[in-house]
Amino acid sequence: MKKKALLIDITKCVGCQQCAIACKEQNNLPDIEETKLSATAYTVVEERGEHYVRRLCMHCNEPTCVSVCPVGAFEKTPEGAVLYDEYKCIGCRYCMMACPFQVPRYEWYSTTPRVQKCRMCIERVRDGKVPACVQACETGASQFGEYYQMLQIAHQTIKAEPDKYVNHIYGEKEVGGTSVLYISDVPFEKIGFKTNLGTVPLPEYTWKALSKIPSVVLVGGTLLYGIWWITSRRKEVIEYERKLKEQKNEEEEG
Ligand code: SF4
Ligand code: SF4
Ligand code: SF4
Repeated sequence: MKKKALLIDITKCVGCQQCAIACKEQNNLPDIEETKLSATAYTVVEERGEHYVRRLCMHCNEPTCVSVCPVGAFEKTPEGAVLYDEYKCIGCRYCMMACPFQVPRYEWYSTTPRVQKCRMCIERVRDGKVPACVQACETGASQFGEYYQMLQIAHQTIKAEPDKYVNHIYGEKEVGGTSVLYISDVPFEKIGFKTNLGTVPLPEYTWKALSKIPSVVLVGGTLLYGIWWITSRRKEVIEYERKLKEQKNEEEEG
């Protein structure tokens, strides 16, 4: 099967949340409204100024979650989806530290916690259907199809209305490309997207890739950058875990 992609046109999103609702139904997740990605919300629509930004796993072409997982619990499939195998996972949460988009979430509430994130509705896709979130989107803000077709539509849309759209397809080049692409009428950094991630696939900086390179080559910026990057992500995750615990304590006290 050819590689697929989601194309999200931010100018068309009206924040109706139908995609998030459909995702919950599709994945048997609790029917509660959530504003941030969580173990029970694989996609959310965030209000950022006057725009609505849908968030989900970017299904990176060269995913760091795959490269850092010591037991191979993540895989990039030929369809483009990045999938997680709970039976292989040992709960180290390196994937959470490594993801440049802060996507994977942990089931803190469970005695046998798993990592959770969007699965690109892989069963539906293999069945020839579009993901549930795309089917639910009535404005055409979320589209799905073959990767190169989605990329072409994105380029054509920008070309047809150059005064409306910024000339940037987010995900075309970021971190080596992703299977979720965005187009927008405002620069992406103004609506909370990370635009400083570079175009080099991040696995090149992770310990697994580094361990395969002869040590003599490692002396220099790449190693230092890799160490800095993993360390800073670890700090972010520790802080995230601390906030979650605080929130849980407050809920219990309240
Ligand atoms: S966005 Fe994060 S979780 Fe999703 S494929 Fe990329 S690295 Fe993995
Ligand atoms: S592709 Fe499927 S799992 Fe991913 S956000 Fe859409 S409905 Fe949810
Ligand atoms: S269903 Fe479409 S328009 Fe509605 S919030 Fe989701 S992406 Fe936006």
